[in-house]
Amino acid sequence: MQIIEGIYQLLTPFPQFTTEDAKALRRDLEEHPRVTKGLPYVLPYMIKSGGDTILVDCGWNTDSAYLALEEGMKEHGSHPTEIQKLVVTHVHPDHYGMAGRLKQLSSCEIVLHEKDAEVITARYFAPRGLTDDMSKFMEHNGVPALASPGMSMGSMGMLANVSPVPADTQVKGSETFKVGDFDFEIIWTPGHSPGHICLYEPNRKILLTGDHVLPTITPNVSIHTQTHGSPLGDYMRSLEILEDLDVEIVLPAHEFHIKDLKKRLREIEHHHELRLDEMVTCVDSGGSTAWEVAGRVKWATGSLADFEPWMQRAAVGETLAHMEYLFETGRVAKVVRGKHLYWLPV
Ligand SMILES: [Zn+2]
Ligand SMILES: [Zn+2]
Repeated sequence: MQIIEGIYQLLTPFPQFTTEDAKALRRDLEEHPRVTKGLPYVLPYMIKSGGDTILVDCGWNTDSAYLALEEGMKEHGSHPTEIQKLVVTHVHPDHYGMAGRLKQLSSCEIVLHEKDAEVITARYFAPRGLTDDMSKFMEHNGVPALASPGMSMGSMGMLANVSPVPADTQVKGSETFKVGDFDFEIIWTPGHSPGHICLYEPNRKILLTGDHVLPTITPNVSIHTQTHGSPLGDYMRSLEILEDLDVEIVLPAHEFHIKDLKKRLREIEHHHELRLDEMVTCVDSGGSTAWEVAGRVKWATGSLADFEPWMQRAAVGETLAHMEYLFETGRVAKVVRGKHLYWLPV
């Protein structure tokens, strides 16, 4: 789909969806914007101008995703072999999964933020230690042993659909680069991922938001074995960075167009404020683990005990991100007793 001349929105399906189903849903959402369940597709963007061709994000490394990308590029007179640069908004498999395959085809330059580039080896090339770390991490946060084995396996199954490749260029944010007539600026927006970046074109007032700002979904902001500091604090600050930008076209990596960026930023901030208030009330006066807090808060998808193991893991990670932010802002305290980390009211 042409957004404006030179910027094209492509679509690659998630492994469990067909390209046809994903495309039909995309078209339907264009006419009837609404909340949908799950993520059926990723929206890569091709920027083609003045003889330059770059791609922003790609998709999972499946044959159907590759064919969908090839078909999408062909519709706009291009082909994956012509990609000169692949800018990855963050290293999650739905955005980065096909990077190695595209690199082989086109020898394109792979561009990533340094904070995400540094986890490629631990996450994709040599991921063995991760499950051990994860079980210790789960125990530390009060997850009972019975629930833990399935949870610590986490997302190891997805590795089959990732073709990893190291970054050629690592950015820090605020770098600029040209694609024909377009001048892009890289904006570092950590939170959903430590090295998440958005791309801003100030002359055309276009913002590519990756997973940082999506129309109906609030992106998962989570603490796990590879996070440091306060991801939710980072995320809230990264929302503020976008508030002052002059933007007319907002292009997210999932769902559909965002009409009003400022309104959406306020909605997401409000969502987290309510969530933070709720989590404070779920902390016992004697202290609670993240697992206990996660068992008390309301989840849109049901109760923690009924979740699949990977969803329980995501729920504990999300709870922790909120607890850490509450700690950072002086609303809770924390203490380690024996093997467990407890959160306390202040
Ligand atoms: Zn993501
Ligand atoms: Zn995503």
